[in-house]
Amino acid sequence: LKLRVEQTFDAATALPGHERCDVLHGHTYKVEMMVQGQEQAGLLVDFSQLKDTLRQAVDAYDHRDLSKVFPYPSCEAIGLALAKDLKSKIPQFSSLRIWEGEGKWVEVESQEV
Ligand SMILES: [Zn+2]
Repeated sequence: LKLRVEQTFDAATALPGHERCDVLHGHTYKVEMMVQGQEQAGLLVDFSQLKDTLRQAVDAYDHRDLSKVFPYPSCEAIGLALAKDLKSKIPQFSSLRIWEGEGKWVEVESQEV
């Protein structure tokens, strides 16, 4: 079985040296987290528990200036940091997808962190 929860957050970012993204600007990020495993007594993992855990993880970045959190705050860097954090908290963590605005996302698999 697989299930997915999502949360969004807003943050400022700037990519040093990037021709378009080196100016401080903002994005709304959507983070989708997938978990996979067998159900026990009818549930894989409780949805509300997963949403709470994901919320806590993204709150570390919500309304922050990510250029002060990461040396290079790309969607890839944020996704890898979130995946590492979530994998340590959720044994059934499978992957996450982080959207930077509309139309573009980065996916990180559990074995990549
Ligand atoms: Zn950007």
